[in-house]
Amino acid sequence: MTAEVSSDPIELGYFRGRVALAATLKGLDVAAGDDVLTQAFTCVAVPEAIMAVGAAPVYADIESEGVNLDPADLERRITSRTKAIVVQHTFGIPARMAELLDIAKRHGLPVIEDCCHTLESLYDGKKAGTMGVAAFYSYEWGKPIVAGIGGSARVNGSALLTRMRGDYENYRGPATGGTWRMKLQYTAFQTLFRPSWYWQVRGAFRALSKLGVAKGNYNPIRANEVPEDYELRMSQFHRELVKDKMARLEELTAHQRLIAGLYLEGVRNPAIRRVEAPARTDSVYARYPIRVAGKERLLEAARKARIEIADWYTTPVHPLQTADWELVGYRRGSCPNAEKRTSELVSLPVHAKTSRRDADRIISFLNRWSG
Ligand SMILES: *Cc1c(COP(=O)(O)O)cnc(C)c1O
Repeated sequence: MTAEVSSDPIELGYFRGRVALAATLKGLDVAAGDDVLTQAFTCVAVPEAIMAVGAAPVYADIESEGVNLDPADLERRITSRTKAIVVQHTFGIPARMAELLDIAKRHGLPVIEDCCHTLESLYDGKKAGTMGVAAFYSYEWGKPIVAGIGGSARVNGSALLTRMRGDYENYRGPATGGTWRMKLQYTAFQTLFRPSWYWQVRGAFRALSKLGVAKGNYNPIRANEVPEDYELRMSQFHRELVKDKMARLEELTAHQRLIAGLYLEGVRNPAIRRVEAPARTDSVYARYPIRVAGKERLLEAARKARIEIADWYTTPVHPLQTADWELVGYRRGSCPNAEKRTSELVSLPVHAKTSRRDADRIISFLNRWSG
């Protein structure tokens, strides 16, 4: 594959990660009547993007003990309607790329890497995002680089790059009013956020999103209706913010590694299991995932103790509840491993605002947890 990529990683900057995915699918001529395979245990943004180009999402299950696509299950779900595969590197743990790329190649299907959780993870010495025909990134809350909102596409082949560059002309900048509000939201977050305030901030953000004051993470899913987001580029403000942070990526990565290392060493409770990564990979975590018995009770205890522990993904197509799964084409019981993971997986912060002291508090909280 030609490694002809633009030297500016956010040249193809879009309003959100999902918009970058939709733009990539368009660039690959994926349209109505086509299926796009993706994993269950994902965020609704992924099927939303697939549906935004008129295609249908089809879900494959994750590994029995992991968080990424199970290659054998993926292959079983390929049909003549399948036009592309989205491969997610969940929490920054690289998916089994050798097997997945081999399957894709045998079926003549392009692979798009979902790099929303990682910029720096390695698979067999290769960086996530460089192995498929393209990759997409998100700069929302909870991602490695936080700008509040924004996404980008990386393209690994010159024909697709030319095509997407051409189509990029059709995207317009977001309204200034909205960008101002996002700026304010970002500044408030930067100044105020501490891991010990996680639960309060999360509650406030959800309440403000409901009121329409803050831009929420999720759009309501409506059939035959594409949100305006899909016509928009990244704002200049967010572009510069992401560029600044990318220039300091090494520092951020070192911090993420340091904090993840503390969890790896410090969490000694047999009731808490790690998520193993495939051989020959190097994971730079967006968050550090663990598997626990009694997820709901653990989260409640964490909230009371003001400990930052995140619950996602809470459903196979987060945050959609069972009644809405049909809207995005997910059939209950079709991906049992993904459903199981939603009931046992939580994740710990490694982001820039996580101090050693925060990590120590989390570790002793977890080591005291009796399941
Ligand atoms: C956040 C996220 C997305 C979507 O990103 P947006 O910028 O919110 O559109 C897609 N996939 C995964 C795995 C994500 O975590």
